[in-house]
Order: sequence, then C-alpha cells, then structure tokens
Amino acid sequence: MKYDVIIVGAGPGGIFSAYELTKLNQNLKIAIFEAGNPLEKRKCPIDGVKVKSCIKCQTCAIMNGFGGAGAFSDGKYNITNQFGGSLYEYIGKNEAIDLMKYVDEINLAYGGEGTRLYSTADTKIKKMCLENGLHLLDAQVRHLGTDINYVVLENLYNFLKERVEFFFRTPVEKVEKTEGGYAVITENDRYECDKCIISVGRSGSKWMETVCNDLDIPTKSNRVDIGVRVELPAEIFSALTDELYESKIVYRTEKFEDLVRTFCMNPHGAVVNENTNGIVTVNGHSYEDPAKHTENTNFALLVSKHFSEPFKDSNGYGESIARLSNMLGGGVIVQRFGDLVRGRRSNTARIQEGYVTPTLAATPGDLSLVIPKRILDGIIEMIYALDKICPGTANDDTLLYGVEVKFYNMEVELDNNLETRNKGLFVIGDGSGVTHSLSHASASGVYVARHIVSNM
Ligand SMILES: Cc1cc2nc3c(=O)[nH]c(=O)nc-3n(C[C@H](O)[C@H](O)[C@H](O)COP(=O)(O)OP(=O)(O)OC[C@H]3O[C@@H](n4cnc5c(N)ncnc54)[C@H](O)[C@@H]3O)c2cc1C
Repeated sequence: MKYDVIIVGAGPGGIFSAYELTKLNQNLKIAIFEAGNPLEKRKCPIDGVKVKSCIKCQTCAIMNGFGGAGAFSDGKYNITNQFGGSLYEYIGKNEAIDLMKYVDEINLAYGGEGTRLYSTADTKIKKMCLENGLHLLDAQVRHLGTDINYVVLENLYNFLKERVEFFFRTPVEKVEKTEGGYAVITENDRYECDKCIISVGRSGSKWMETVCNDLDIPTKSNRVDIGVRVELPAEIFSALTDELYESKIVYRTEKFEDLVRTFCMNPHGAVVNENTNGIVTVNGHSYEDPAKHTENTNFALLVSKHFSEPFKDSNGYGESIARLSNMLGGGVIVQRFGDLVRGRRSNTARIQEGYVTPTLAATPGDLSLVIPKRILDGIIEMIYALDKICPGTANDDTLLYGVEVKFYNMEVELDNNLETRNKGLFVIGDGSGVTHSLSHASASGVYVARHIVSNM
C-alpha cells in the first residue's frame, strides 16, 4: 500500500491540501487518514432531552471527522494576517492573503456563493473603539454560517472522494521514516508514502507531540488563552455585528496592563460545548439561515497566558482550569454578570429570572472559583469598556459561560515550506501551532500542496 502523498487528518488543512494536490496533478495517488467519521455520520449525542451533557464518545463528533473541528463551526473565514495564526511569518504577508482569498473562491464555488463578506475597512466603528480605549483589528470576514459551511464540505467531499482514498475511523498511531519516505501505521496496517502531510488540528495535539518526539522534531509551547463566553441580547451588539458581523477588539486593562480580546462572535447564535481530550469547555456558533437564529449574540473574552522557564506545559495549565469547572459544574458553568460582580454564585432561579435566556444548558455557578483573579479582573474590566461602545453589555443579566480555553498546539519547528527537518514530512494547520483558524489552516494546506507538486 504505497501512495505518493498521505495526509493525516481531514480538517480544513487536510481537505485543502488534498484539493490542491488533485487539481495540480490528477495522477497522484493520495490517501487521507481520519480518526473520525465521514461528514454525514458526525452526530453529537447531546440532544438536550435524553443526553444533556457530554458523554465523552471515543471520537468527538464535534471535533473529529471530515471537516475537522470546523465542520459545525460558524464558518467564519477571516482574511487577515492580524489574527488566526502566524502563517505569514513563514510564507510572507502577501502570499498568505492571496492563499486565503483563493480558499474563499473555492468555498464560494462549492456552495458558499451568495454569502456575505464583511470588512473593517472604512468603518466608523474603529474610531468609536479608539475613543474608548478599544482597538479594532483589520479583517475581511466571509461568514458561511454553520449550514452553508456544511454544504461546502459536502460538495468538497463529493469532489475529493473520486480522486482520493479516504480511511475514516482510522487514527494513525505512528509515523515512521523509511528509505525513501514515510510509513503511516494504523491499528491493523502499514501504509507507505513519498510525502506525508500531518494536519491533525487541536484534537491531535497530544499525538503530534509523540510524533515530534519519535522523529526528533523540536517543538516549543508557551501560550494558552483563558476566558469566558459572553451571551447577551443580539440588539446590544447589533451596532457592531450588523456592519462587521465579527469584530476582533483588543483592550489593555488599566489594572494589570493585560490584553483582553474578543474572539469568535456569533450574532443570533448559540453557545455550545466543546470537548478537547475529554475536557468540556465552551464555544459558540450561528447559522446563516434566519430561521435558525436565536435572540442572543455570543462571543468570547480571552486573556493570553504566556509562560517562561521553567514551566512548559501551558496547555496543561489551561486543562487544569477547565477541569476545575468540570469538577464543580459537571461541565460548563454559567453565571450572570450581576452575580459575578456581587460575589455570589448564580443558581437556577436567578438565571430563570434573568432577561437573557441561555442557549446552552450549563450549570449555574460561580466563575470566580474557577478562573484566576487576574484574568477574571481583566474580563470584568473589558465588559465595562465594551459597555461604552455597546451600552447594555455590562447589564446584570449578561451571561458568562466558563471556561473558554483556546489551547495552542505546541509550535513544531518548520522551515518556510512548512516542512520539518525530516525532508518530505510537512506539518500544517492548527496541529503545527502555526495556524489557529479555518482560513489560515486551509491556506497552509494549499501552500504545501503547491510546494510538493512543484518539487516532484
Ligand atoms: C465549535 C468551533 C467553532 C469554531 N469556529 C471557527 C470559526 O468560525 N472560524 C475560524 O476561523 N475557526 C473556527 N474554529 C477553529 C477551526 O475549526 C480550526 O482552526 C480549524 O478547523 C483547524 O483546521 P485543521 O485542519 O488544522 O484541524 P482540525 O479541523 O482540527 O482537523 C484535524 C483532523 O485531524 C483528525 N485527527 C487528529 N488526530 C488524528 C490521527 N492521529 N489520525 C488521523 N486523524 C487524526 C481529527 O479527527 C480532525 O478531524 C472553531 C472551532 C470549533 C471547535
């Protein structure tokens, strides 16, 4: 079983590298190994009635399978170098933007046509933010929405399945160096290839570490983002979301001069559970279809924690905080902002009496027992700062879900071709630590595919 190229992981990185490889050379023999299920079989058992919280399936239907972690996401493709990863540091700013635009064209051609592209260019919101100590980052945002994102993935799968051999529910256990390339070892078989592209995302972070250890690839890791997901009536944020859909706003706190930022804004969206390696954290998404809109908008407020020597396990630190919320609340905890600032826990009655109806069934509790004080102080400060541009943000009934953790994969040492020191072995997408978003992960896949074909 010998292939020209084996791709490990069928998230956006894997999908777009396969797409570009097949487009540039139809004769290539390509296989994709994916730990999860095909798209149509990805069903999270949580139905809110019989199954109310995460039952820790063997592979998480939300995180694993064709489409990767992005399959049921909001499908926001941010075309920018200001956030979403540091791909531009490897390939240059112009190339990175060109590739993100190319990915956007493909998404449109495969079902995304008619979706809206938002832009921060020429907006008055930037000035309004600056006047209040807030900084709006520049970006164009294609919002596919969870529903259209699914259609695009379906269409891409139909295109790829004729040209690429898929192995679903087949986690790769080991990658070994061979005479002329690599061997990919699964539970029952061994497959060889000339080139190997690893694109295992955040859910594959622990496995990626073992690959780097086995193949002597240096890594570094020193960052984790910790915070909460905020949920409030959509009208409060409509001044931002109607014009920009998603705005990335950064605030420097007065107390500690820490940076707090908004992340993943979902107008009329829903708050959801996220399961990373068995730990339940919170995330959010929204549908393009108005029939599926909720009355609320949600977004995350995050603080980045960078660690210095001797501590190296930044993700372990984030996991411990998330575990604490899982221990206290059995999963995600929800608290009214008014309860948090008064130093009391939220309970079911207080949540029910509030004017914001939660879109996620989380356990009412006290986030101050979970989130470190300095981070929580920063989040509270930013909520008051946002209240100046979107009055009502700091209302008592605003809901905070915790914890939201953005785990960063350790950064794999790569050259400008995203190739490891083992020639022919490429690491792309979030699993490389280089990207943290749909557009950057997809762009990294296209980039490596082009490099491989042009050097064959
Ligand atoms: C709920 C949610 C909402 C999000 N919303 C957005 C958004 O709106 N915009 C945005 O830019 N980003 C969003 N993100 C982040 C985005 O989904 C990721 O940045 C993106 O999916 C990364 O792509 P990737 O291909 O690198 O990895 P992934 O999408 O994580 O794909 C990796 C794949 O590899 C597979 N895998 C892992 N280990 C192995 C193994 N050993 N063998 C075989 N297969 C393996 C996994 O099963 C997975 O399917 C969201 C994430 C979540 C969870």
